[in-house]
Amino acid sequence: MPEELLKLSVSKTKTFLDCAKKFHFSYVLKLPKKEYEFHTFGKFLHKVLEDFHLKYLNGENVPFHTTMTEVYKNAFLEYKDKLSKELKSEAFEIINQYLKLLSKDKTIVSKVSDVEKKFELNINDKLILNGMIDRIQLDDDGVIHVCDYKTTKNKKYMKNDFMQLLTYAYILYKDNPTLTKVRGSYIMLRHNFEFITKEFSLEDILSIEEKYLGYADDISSELLWRASPTKLCDYCDFLDSCEEGKKFLNKGIKTGLTSW
Ligand code: SF4
Repeated sequence: MPEELLKLSVSKTKTFLDCAKKFHFSYVLKLPKKEYEFHTFGKFLHKVLEDFHLKYLNGENVPFHTTMTEVYKNAFLEYKDKLSKELKSEAFEIINQYLKLLSKDKTIVSKVSDVEKKFELNINDKLILNGMIDRIQLDDDGVIHVCDYKTTKNKKYMKNDFMQLLTYAYILYKDNPTLTKVRGSYIMLRHNFEFITKEFSLEDILSIEEKYLGYADDISSELLWRASPTKLCDYCDFLDSCEEGKKFLNKGIKTGLTSW
């Protein structure tokens, strides 16, 4: 890529780390992406939870179920035509579970200090880190806690990948350099809002800056955009344009052939 100001988000960086060819399709050639229903499902739930907590951050003083009904109906109007009956029922059940949790512990709401916090940080004159933090809360022990809502069913995968939360911890540290520790959690919406949590020391937080500078150098000097096919190619937006991915998944091989 030519030398220019590079903007990286967590997902853009991860795309490069997972498969340079996918990065090239997505961010250099800018090929259109597919719209999957599970993305819409995630967006819908994010909107409900964001709008709900925003109301209380802005001083709302009515029972939780009243506010939830209002924000759910509003978001539903926007998303109902894009979701199957099954996902609509599941979304309702997930929010119902959340209301049950809130009725047992009302402090969940009062701890939240920010939602959908956008950031755009110049790390140096060549790299900007941008993105959005789903939720920030201040825990009872005084530790600031960054959270990201996840609609994936697979918990195991999340337990081995804290790059996103560490990036958010770094963003908060840059805002407030007196922080010496930040807690980070994935909130698993399909697992009754279970928290998968890790605490980041100052050393952890500072280490991510060096990593991003390295990734930015790698991306800026990349020329070959090699494919790294895995089973996940099946979910790649660009599989139709990728011979390596199709070959890996044995797609496009005609059935009924009898000779090689
Ligand atoms: S199909 Fe697989 S190998 Fe090809 S670009 Fe997508 S992730 Fe990479």
